[in-house]
Amino acid sequence: MSADTVYDCIVIGAGVQGSFTAYHLAKKNKKTLLLEQFVLPHSRGSSHGQTRVIRKAYDQEFYAHMLDECYKLWAQIEKEAGVRLYRQTGLLVMGPENSRYYELVKNTLQKNKVPMVALTRENFSKHIPLVNLDEGHGAVVEIPAGILYADRAVKTAQGQFQKLGGVIRDNAMVTDIKPGPLVTVVTSSGVYRAKSLVITAGPWTNRLLAHTGLELPLETECQDTKEHIYGLPSNEYPGLMKVCFHAGFETDPDHRDKQKNTSDIDILQRYIARCFPGLDPQPAVVESCLYTLTPDRNFVLDHHPAYSNIVIGAGFSGHGFKFGPIIGKLLSELSLGEVPSYDLSPFKIRRFHEKTKSAL
Ligand SMILES: Cc1cc2nc3c(=O)[nH]c(=O)nc-3n(C[C@H](O)[C@H](O)[C@H](O)COP(=O)(O)OP(=O)(O)OC[C@H]3O[C@@H](n4cnc5c(N)ncnc54)[C@H](O)[C@@H]3O)c2cc1C
Repeated sequence: MSADTVYDCIVIGAGVQGSFTAYHLAKKNKKTLLLEQFVLPHSRGSSHGQTRVIRKAYDQEFYAHMLDECYKLWAQIEKEAGVRLYRQTGLLVMGPENSRYYELVKNTLQKNKVPMVALTRENFSKHIPLVNLDEGHGAVVEIPAGILYADRAVKTAQGQFQKLGGVIRDNAMVTDIKPGPLVTVVTSSGVYRAKSLVITAGPWTNRLLAHTGLELPLETECQDTKEHIYGLPSNEYPGLMKVCFHAGFETDPDHRDKQKNTSDIDILQRYIARCFPGLDPQPAVVESCLYTLTPDRNFVLDHHPAYSNIVIGAGFSGHGFKFGPIIGKLLSELSLGEVPSYDLSPFKIRRFHEKTKSAL
């Protein structure tokens, strides 16, 4: 493509959401450019690593509806690319039987008719012999839940995008955005123009939006709230188990590993000693990763309030990976001025009203 090329769409950020957005645009024969600040692949955003959980236990109906299609879209791209991206493992959920969260998970699975098995204290150790169920805790297994091979999924979306004629420029940090009927995007390695722009920049979203006079109430955390602990098969470290603390501390995405607070590790060690008697509670490898949180933990999927040809996908609040293919489809629809496949009112920017700073 020559320097004068006018793209149908430029997507900023080649994490899972930007890569799937670019892929859906290319599928619709749109001339699309995907820009990434780092050399690909990289581990500095939120989409890297080998595994992410996919599950259906969402009490909000808008997520539950999307998830049905999500499983189909994951299977579709697996077929197109001839790679395996999803492995069904089942998901064991344990928690205090009378707690709000545990009740919610159980009721939601029943309400959404997701295949599940409820275990009693009596039969728990027969089915799950290596784990201790705390006194007063209940356990359910969500059968269709599993893992997504994260790095491979992002690479596959990018690869399919390129096969469809899409262009990726990595090592191209966007340093300025000039809105207009044709949006101009200035990067460290060139200037590009397009009819529309999608911003999927993860923890860096507000830095980019500053060029357009907008600031969203996003908080970047080095990994969200209370003792929500989860684990999943650790593909990258055979013989080890990946145990994660769904909480963290506010951080700067460019200085993620300067974090010194280790209270999360202490909590994980105590939990493992109590519930996983066969595991060494001392961590062999410690890694942190970035969450970009909205106040209500729901995503932002919307047009820029002042520029209808700029679309924003942000604030995936630590649970956005599984939705990648559907987010990509929705952001591509918004950027092409199409009616989105789902009601996007829960994801509108106007829900924040007084928390959104605007210099427009
Ligand atoms: C530890 C961890 C575990 C998680 N577990 C799960 C899970 O089990 N299940 C689940 O569904 N979700 C999970 N999530 C959440 C999920 O991974 C994220 O919601 C998702 O990866 C967000 O993707 P993104 O594309 O929005 O952001 P990112 O992956 O951060 O991508 C944004 C990209 O934009 C680029 N960029 C930024 N600024 C610029 C610029 N100026 N110029 C060019 N490029 C730029 C960045 O370099 C980056 O590549 C987890 C997240 C973490 C951190």
